[in-house]
Amino acid sequence: MKQAYHQKIMSYLYVIAIFFATTHSYEALALDQIDILNKKLSNLKNSDTTLLDRTSVRDLYLENVHIKSHGVDFLNGCKAMKINKHALLSTNTSPAIRYKGISIVGSPYYSAPIKTNKDNNTLYFKRLKSALDIIEQHKPRSFAAIVKTMTQHRGYMIIDNFCPSSGGLAFAAFVPRTKQNNFVVMVSSTLLLLPDMFSDYDVASQLVHEMEGHAVDFYGRGTTDEAHAFTKQAQFATAVGGDKFIDVNNRPTNLEMRIKMKLSSKGTYVESKQN
Ligand SMILES: [Zn+2]
Repeated sequence: MKQAYHQKIMSYLYVIAIFFATTHSYEALALDQIDILNKKLSNLKNSDTTLLDRTSVRDLYLENVHIKSHGVDFLNGCKAMKINKHALLSTNTSPAIRYKGISIVGSPYYSAPIKTNKDNNTLYFKRLKSALDIIEQHKPRSFAAIVKTMTQHRGYMIIDNFCPSSGGLAFAAFVPRTKQNNFVVMVSSTLLLLPDMFSDYDVASQLVHEMEGHAVDFYGRGTTDEAHAFTKQAQFATAVGGDKFIDVNNRPTNLEMRIKMKLSSKGTYVESKQN
């Protein structure tokens, strides 16, 4: 009788042990979207593209995450303009690349506020690659710091539809997600779709602002501010030469003026709330 009781207890313990083992292994297997992305991108060469399913891409695009900026909630302008910034392309997959160590996830959406029904990801990738090449060429140490931060803190780039309520255009944003242990660099589709108004150097300038000016700074000293980001942008502008920019805001003199006047309230450092 006593032995039977003992056996029963042991079998309970066995079941509990199995339960814990299972839960633990589920936890170990619970890859998040960034793990899946990085796994898919890890073996790719610079010119290769992988395809991600639509659900994963919508998660990576923070579709259900509330994003707020300091001062101006520029992402809410889409509602006022009656634009559905999340209107989906007909394709069920989106391309993703890793270029020189930087992960870039293609857009699953129509482009807004400039509305096109086309899948523009090939163009987006081409322009972002050129911009990254420019940074690497003129500021190799900055580029190395960017790649290191993107890798260590699981950063990736997306091409988002900004609809600023202010009427101006937000070109890019840095979104740290400390709880999720990752961050997102958002680049405006409009910036990439208008090469006559924004050269590859203009795109590079925005990337320097977000990636070196904000992301590297944020993970280096635990905080970031606009004056620092504009300073990095000005250093980049001086290194490449002001004549490379179509957008006059990216020229060294204008950036230096901006720093002096401390125009920091309309910054593009934004925070996200967990959905
Ligand atoms: Zn900024």
